[in-house]
Amino acid sequence: MITTPQPSGAIPDRTIYERRESAVRSYARSMPRQFGKAEGVWMHDDQGGRYLDFLSGCSTLNYGHNHPILKQALLDYIAADGIAHGLDLHTHAKRDFLATFEQLILKPRGLDHRVMFTGPTGTNAVEAAIKLARKVTGREMVIAFTNGFHGMTLGALACTGNATKRGGAGVPLSHVAHEPYFDYYGPEVDTADLLEQRLADPSSGLDAPAAILIETVQGEGGLNAASPEWLRRIAEIAKAHGALLIVDDIQAGCGRTGGFFSFEDMGFTPDIVTLAKSLSGMGLPFALTLLRPELDQWSPGEHNGTFRGNNHAFVTATAALRHFWGSADFQRDVERRGELLAMRLGRIAAEHGFEVRGRGMMRGVNVASGEFASAVTAACFDAGLIIETSGAHDEVIKVLAPLVIDDAVLAAGLDILETKIREAMAADYAVAAE
Ligand SMILES: *Cc1c(COP(=O)(O)O)cnc(C)c1O
Repeated sequence: MITTPQPSGAIPDRTIYERRESAVRSYARSMPRQFGKAEGVWMHDDQGGRYLDFLSGCSTLNYGHNHPILKQALLDYIAADGIAHGLDLHTHAKRDFLATFEQLILKPRGLDHRVMFTGPTGTNAVEAAIKLARKVTGREMVIAFTNGFHGMTLGALACTGNATKRGGAGVPLSHVAHEPYFDYYGPEVDTADLLEQRLADPSSGLDAPAAILIETVQGEGGLNAASPEWLRRIAEIAKAHGALLIVDDIQAGCGRTGGFFSFEDMGFTPDIVTLAKSLSGMGLPFALTLLRPELDQWSPGEHNGTFRGNNHAFVTATAALRHFWGSADFQRDVERRGELLAMRLGRIAAEHGFEVRGRGMMRGVNVASGEFASAVTAACFDAGLIIETSGAHDEVIKVLAPLVIDDAVLAAGLDILETKIREAMAADYAVAAE
């Protein structure tokens, strides 16, 4: 079912990248091919290779590459000379998105949040969220968590845990406290208790926070999934201490964990929510920040940006909402596939003494070594499977398959992963035995 990419004919000239593209490029290094086409769960290089995509643009392509319904909606819009860029002017595309988002997502979930269109990347949505929290509360300090990832611009980067990423800031990253996430010290220590104690103690040294910023499943930080009880506690602690609860749902949202939001049915409502990645549904840049109406204390243009109305993204996002979120079928499918994924990863983990992480279709296997994990993902790539790592030491092999993937294709991809892990384990034993 999955073809191994065999170079056929001439290997394309890629020296332009070496010559001109900044050294900051990263994914292109572990996947040294040039891609031309993609559809559904498949990507094609120009050497005749076909790859099953278990990365999905870091969960940007939850509905797969070039979904025909989304693509057609965009083609029709462009053909009719629809507005492509209009600053934040009112357009038909924006109206349709807002009305559909209200009808299919916000209202059924009892959310009365306002929709703030930020710049088009996730980090913009996070910047807007923490800026607003500081403005509204008059406080400076934000509580973020160990292994959290929130983006690369200074405010969001200050909330990110990863030392390598932080090191690029060039200036002090301040006004953020990084508290231990769920199970950071293992299951014996309730880190919500620790946070509560520190906030209640006037001598703990922890300033009163403007916000508590959290991912319900840490996407880049190793697929740590917090329990609903713990998250509910964090929500209560935020409320008790006058801090706003910001859920960064940029990676875990848009269906990745089953529901449209990752915190659904957990018994709390975030004050602020950030969305990006799969929001446009087709990989087009589009982010937004949701805020409870009483928090909407912005003055016009106070948080601005030229690209706060990607109308093409509005069109594809609207088509995605209508196609996938108009009934409960899609969510049921995703939940079923998530169970399938958990079962298969559980089998792999049990065979080698590894540990499964995550929730829904956002799961992975902790192989305890970044070196081992990257050997496995490299072998998977050579076998036609695109898959990446996550975690403090890149020690978690993470499966971010498109949510629309066929069960049989999902199983075939997991077969490759299972085989490559087994082979890498055997090679490790062989080396150890020498
Ligand atoms: C990817 C990500 C971001 C940053 O989004 P960009 O579009 O890369 O700026 C922020 N938070 C989380 C949880 C993410 O996964």
